[in-house]
Amino acid sequence: MTRPIRATIDLNALQANYLYAKQMSATNAQALAVIKADAYGHGAIASAKALDAEADGFAVASVEEALQLRHANIKSPIVLLEGFFSAEELEAISHFNLQPLIHSRQQIEVLHKHPQDKMLTVWLKLDSGMHRLGFSPEQFITAYTELTQLPYIKSIICTSHFACADEPDHPMNKKQLDRCAQIIKTLGNPPASLANSPAILTMPDSHYQWLRPGIMLYGSSPFAHSQPQASVLKPVMTLTAEVIAIKSLAEGETIGYGASYQVGKSLPMGVVSIGYGDGYPRYIAEGAPVVINGIRCPIIGRVSMDMITVDLTNCPQANIGDTVELWGNQLSVNEIAAYANTISYELLTKITQRVPRHYI
Ligand code: PLP
Repeated sequence: MTRPIRATIDLNALQANYLYAKQMSATNAQALAVIKADAYGHGAIASAKALDAEADGFAVASVEEALQLRHANIKSPIVLLEGFFSAEELEAISHFNLQPLIHSRQQIEVLHKHPQDKMLTVWLKLDSGMHRLGFSPEQFITAYTELTQLPYIKSIICTSHFACADEPDHPMNKKQLDRCAQIIKTLGNPPASLANSPAILTMPDSHYQWLRPGIMLYGSSPFAHSQPQASVLKPVMTLTAEVIAIKSLAEGETIGYGASYQVGKSLPMGVVSIGYGDGYPRYIAEGAPVVINGIRCPIIGRVSMDMITVDLTNCPQANIGDTVELWGNQLSVNEIAAYANTISYELLTKITQRVPRHYI
């Protein structure tokens, strides 16, 4: 017997969102489906299998994540967004036909140990202003030239990442775009990849030859404010639990740990089978909604490890065993993220392994 909780993953929605990302391309670009961090909590293997026929390739963070996919018989190109850190990893990259991102001089040193008779496609990262991974514009030109001289480098894709693409009017976007455009032109227009989800949706100048959609694949808008381009996305994960107890609480009684919530007028209260041990955010604001029988009911009292408590005043007909939606088709994960003072990316990736994923 399992606890009454599940994350239902709609693989048709995932496929539709991938195709939408490609449709948005101003350049008929190919698209790497970003499925790192277990496909943002949706299950990397199941997501890769669902997308494998359509996807031009996948992107993951590490060699370890890539091997998980290769061992599941995923044959499409796989790009490593953090590259590699040792000669052993380089060996695995060559053996399993992976495409590493190169962002540092140390990696180029290790790259010289690559077998001469095996060809390698690499993604070379420019730090265009985010100042996380990547070469400065001057170092980038040198690194690019150096790589073109290695006989086993088959192709080099120039790549960079935006710091503020989720704010379409942020001046940083143009600054980064201009820096990238200048370097790409200087190098004679090699293939390039800049666009994450928000850039795919609102910055056509960033599309070049490869898109890198992540969060939009999972049906969540990358923007804090509503954007018509994002409204088409279909939610992929619906997180549900059940009402496991119902009580009437009298005026003045308190609920849960810390007795933090005191009942005003007497109310019916439901106990729901999800908590922070499942990845539901403990610091969510009181009043955040859940949906029971199509009706929004607010959370009252603290989130426990295995349970939350909700005010059933709006939903007096609720019964034990009723399904409770925490996010999904009726309640967007972005709305819940706002109540938890975070972003949907964090909520989705934090759903723990004890929540069974059910694929439809
Ligand atoms: N490209 C890189 C280098 C990333 O790190 C990420 C995600 O963090 C993505 C693309 C996908 O971004 P998003 O999920 O915003 O589409």
